[in-house]
Amino acid sequence: MSYAPSQIFLSLLHNAGLMALVVMAYSTLLRHAPKIGGRGVMIGVLFGLAGVLSMADPIRTPEGIQLDSRTVMAALAAPFGGLVATLIAAFIMGVFRIVQGGAGVVTGLAAIAMASTIGYAFYRIWRGRTPNTEQLLTLAIAICSVLVCLALLPKEVASSLVRTAAVPLITNAVLGILLLGAFLAREDRNFRREEELRTEATTDALTALANRRAFDRLAYRISESAKAKNAPFAMLLVDVDRFKSINDRFGHLAGDRVLASIAAVVKAETRQSDIVARYGGEEIAVLMPSTSIRVAERVAERIRESVANQPLAVDGSELMVTVSIGVSGADKAGVVFPTVFKAADDALYDAKNNGRNRVELRRAA
Ligand code: GH3
Ligand code: MG
Ligand code: MG
Repeated sequence: MSYAPSQIFLSLLHNAGLMALVVMAYSTLLRHAPKIGGRGVMIGVLFGLAGVLSMADPIRTPEGIQLDSRTVMAALAAPFGGLVATLIAAFIMGVFRIVQGGAGVVTGLAAIAMASTIGYAFYRIWRGRTPNTEQLLTLAIAICSVLVCLALLPKEVASSLVRTAAVPLITNAVLGILLLGAFLAREDRNFRREEELRTEATTDALTALANRRAFDRLAYRISESAKAKNAPFAMLLVDVDRFKSINDRFGHLAGDRVLASIAAVVKAETRQSDIVARYGGEEIAVLMPSTSIRVAERVAERIRESVANQPLAVDGSELMVTVSIGVSGADKAGVVFPTVFKAADDALYDAKNNGRNRVELRRAA
């Protein structure tokens, strides 16, 4: 028997720096790589390169067995990067193994392919959720089956390798998956928590629209960029007509539901690029980048009509609700956001004074 615990310990230690780098890079990618498209590719490249680095600088046991982290990287690419990352990581490691050459190329390629497939199968079983320690342990145990790839070697070599190499190879892979997997899972959870907090801090719970704080921040950014690009921007202030009487007649909860329905209408009638926010109690503000006042006025009219023509079901009875809308915008460069907001507020005031269920427009001076 040539079980070499010191060698395995050495290998883990040897790879600790690499693992730390992978965790740091992974954490950066989660936060900065584009969610759609880019992230899977970059995570794939990361795991692929990490595998290559460990294959290029392995620990060799006295029996000539190469201990590296390629199966660890191949197995974890899917749980932490998805299908694209798995394919890219496997491709990079595979190409490197071919370039390395030697008698074990086929075995090496088979091991990479098998570890990637097992990792992907677990990713599907876990439905893309971040694995916990128990789940990582099952993946690590399943990865032991990669040892059957040794059967691809000539019979005598294979049987002697199984005797000498099985324990160190397995221990190395199992501990690697548990360690690196646990660190990556922690990064995943931290990132998710951060996103939740960010969403909570910027979203209104009742309407799921942006809140006032988020609106003010984005408004500042959009008006600055409009100034720099010499582009227009416009805004709407939507206020529910006689909302107090709805609350008085049907109760505050029914009022809340009405408000949520109106928010949904405004959201549906505006573009993805528009910022829709609950600005005050029953006031909704819409900020429209690169939009002229004329276009904004048409959108406002569409929202007004849509709300007025759509009876809302409240406590079994159908309720007709209307909104008044103030429109304003900066068609010429250099008009700052507070001026535009003030003009929209004045326009809303006009709409209320002129009989409600109306759209009024005021240019920002
Ligand atoms: P108008 O705007 O047409 O002049 O009349 P109004 O009755 O809508 O005007 P006002 O601004 O005086 O009243 C707004 C009311 O909206 C007062 C408040 O009770 C109600 N309100 C504000 N926030 C909420 C909320 O989150 N839920 C509910 N149910 N009511 C709210
Ligand atoms: Mg109102
Ligand atoms: Mg109001």
